[in-house]
Formats: sequence, structure tokens, C-alpha cells
Amino acid sequence: MTTRYDADRSAVAELLADQPAYRVGQVWDGLYRRLLDPGDMTDVPNALRQRLAHELPPALQPGVETVSDGGNTVKWLWRLADGTGVETVLMHYGDRTTVCVSSQAGCAMGCAFCATGQAGFERNLSIGEIVEQVVRAARRALPRRLSNVVFMGMGEPLANFERVWAAIGRLHHDLGLSARHLTVSTIGMGHGIDRLAGADLPVNLAVSLHAANDALRDRLVPLNRRYPLAALNAACERYVAATRRRLSFEWALIDATNDRPSDAAELAELARPLRAHVNLIPLNPTPGYATPGTPPAGVAAFCRRLRALGITTTVRRNRGTGIDAACGQLAAGPRRGDQGRTVRLSPARMASTSTSPRRTTPPGHTTDRTSSPSTTAPGPTTEAPPDAVRLAAR
Ligand code: SAH
Ligand code: SF4
Repeated sequence: MTTRYDADRSAVAELLADQPAYRVGQVWDGLYRRLLDPGDMTDVPNALRQRLAHELPPALQPGVETVSDGGNTVKWLWRLADGTGVETVLMHYGDRTTVCVSSQAGCAMGCAFCATGQAGFERNLSIGEIVEQVVRAARRALPRRLSNVVFMGMGEPLANFERVWAAIGRLHHDLGLSARHLTVSTIGMGHGIDRLAGADLPVNLAVSLHAANDALRDRLVPLNRRYPLAALNAACERYVAATRRRLSFEWALIDATNDRPSDAAELAELARPLRAHVNLIPLNPTPGYATPGTPPAGVAAFCRRLRALGITTTVRRNRGTGIDAACGQLAAGPRRGDQGRTVRLSPARMASTSTSPRRTTPPGHTTDRTSSPSTTAPGPTTEAPPDAVRLAAR
């Protein structure tokens, strides 16, 4: 049985073959424009609503929902039909509302510093599993309008290109999101970057660089051995030449590893000819990587240095570190007993679940708490026992 957002328009038309023709548009509009469950489509006869609810089941079963940053960050752990877990993060900012979606359950790229990479690969997500993450987030965001989608959750989007691209088509054509507000982040799959360069929607490209010499990048990003910097740079050049779009480099700042003046100089050499924008992200802690992120003063100094070298640079505001919802912290482990729970984290509870700024738990456990989530989340709430928020437990 196809899931609600895996069904394309012709599949929905087939399901509605016994209905008047206008029903197809009505149901499609209900799913994509009005973000409705079939059961809530009151303009459709009741019997048909029930049939659709049954024949177009959701792909995502609610697992744990965790709210932090005064209600401005929401992380979901979803269960898929085969029991796999994936995570989605919704973030409200002053001027926009962004959802960070997963493209794969786990990731095969094995980047040392990333919780998803540490957990390994499970499988590619389907079109519907990707689109439904956005729909659920858009519904949760109301009355605010979901404005941006970033493929920066679990997985390497360009390793699941076909489905990711089909999902992007739905987000653009059917959900009505502007291509300029959709961002694909890649660890540097040259082949995928070339495909993106030839694609017909002008989405943004972010390349997770993290090191600008091969010796260091080989250590941090195993894929660099297949696409060394010269090959990655060439793919970026082709992308910029073909699209005339500005790309951005993501750089997770790791203490005494890639935050030295020489790193800034090498990065500037790569970024300048491409006119790339650099996003600095202080490394978020993950269970399997001991080196901490660059301290704030070092982040500011690295940023100043890059700017002095003529590179447009921003420091990404950290969101959701307290609930392991930040970049590189997503790693959903199987928890069978976690259905439908909302966790609203209070500062006191956070304090009691904190250990130290550095992890002492085995790989996969997430007990670090570095920010103070607040308690203003709407909706049903259960006070969480400490391990209810350890979404990454494997
Ligand atoms: N696989 C893709 C997209 C998902 S990762 C990619 O790597 O680009 C999303 C972003 O988080 C990437 O820029 C990634 O390099 C970064 N990241 C991974 N682990 C991190 C960590 N521990 N702290 C900060 N950023 C991290
Ligand atoms: Fe995969 Fe991206 Fe994490 Fe690397 S940083 S392991 S590519 S999700």
C-alpha cells in the first residue's frame, strides 16, 4: 500500500476512479495546500474520507516530540512502517520558519564528528517519507508559514538523489515552496553536484567542507578519498558556472583541528574564486567524537580572519543543542515504547539530566545538555524521565 505522500497525482486519481473528476483536485489540494489528513477533509463525503484515510496511510508514526528554545525548536523522532527511526527539526526564527529534514535513515558516509555517521546507514527514505516530514512541520508551524526547507537532517541527500529530487519537485510545485528557499547540503558528492547543476529548479547548494587540505579532510570526511578537494572544487566550479548561483561552504569548527589561521587561509583560497559564502558552525558534541567544538572566542576570531581575507562569512546560530537537534546530532535509535509522546523540557529537568559538557556515555547515548530549553510549548505534555529524551540510544 502506498503511503499518503508517496502517492503521486495519478495514483490518487486511480484511487478516485469511481468519483467525479473534480475530487482528484480537491483531495490533492487538501493534502498539499490545506495540509489536511483525509479524515479532516470535510468537503469530501464521509465514506470517502474514511476510505482515503485507510488507503493512504501516513508514513510517519509519531515517536517522541521534544520542544526547546522557548517553543521555537521542535524535534520529532518518527517511526517508519518498518520500525526505522528518523528525525525532523522545526525552527522558528524572527523572519522565517525552517524545517530540517532527513533524506536517509542513518548515513553511510561515516564522518567522524557526526552522530548520524557514527550510527551507520539503515536505508534511503522514500519520496513520501521526505515530503511528509515537511507537511507535518508545516502543519505544526501554523499559523506561521513554513518558509524554508534544508536537507541537513539525517543522511546524505545526494546519495538518495532520485527520491530527494522528486520530493523537492513536490515541495515546489504542490506545497508551493520557493526553490530559492530549499537547500540541499552535501558532504561533497561530485557526481551529485553535477546532477544538481543540470536540474531544472534553482535550489541552494551547501557543501560541507570542514577542511581545505586533503590530509585533514581525509581524516574528517572519509568520502574525501573518493572525491578529493581538487575533484570537489572542480564540481563546485562547474556548478557555479552552470547555474550562476552562489554556493555556501559549511565548516564545523573543531578545536585545534580546523580552526587555525592556516585553515582560514586555505579555506579562503578555495572559497574566493567560487565566491562561496562560508557558514561557520561550532562543532556540536556527539557521542563518538572526543574533540570539542571551538570555543566562542575562537569562532569569532576565525570569522574575523575569513572576513579580513574577503570571504563573506556567517556564524550559524546554534539551535536545539539541548535536545540533540542541532547539526550532526541526529541519530534515531529504535525505541518501541515511545509512541506519541510529547516531551517539554524544563530547565530544572535539563539540569538534572545533564552530565558534563563532555560525553561519558557509550556511543549513541545523548546526555549532554548545553542550552536551556524552556517550557512554553503548546500541546499535550508529559514530563519526561531522563532517558525519554535520549533519542539516539541504540
Ligand atoms: N549529509 C549532508 C547533510 C546532513 S549533515 C552533509 O553532510 O552536508 C548537515 C550539516 O551538519 C552538515 O554541514 C554537516 O557537515 C554538519 N555536521 C555534522 N556533524 C556535525 C556536528 N557534530 N556539529 C556541527 N555540524 C555538524
Ligand atoms: Fe552523513 Fe552528513 Fe553526517 Fe557526514 S556529516 S555522516 S555525510 S549526515
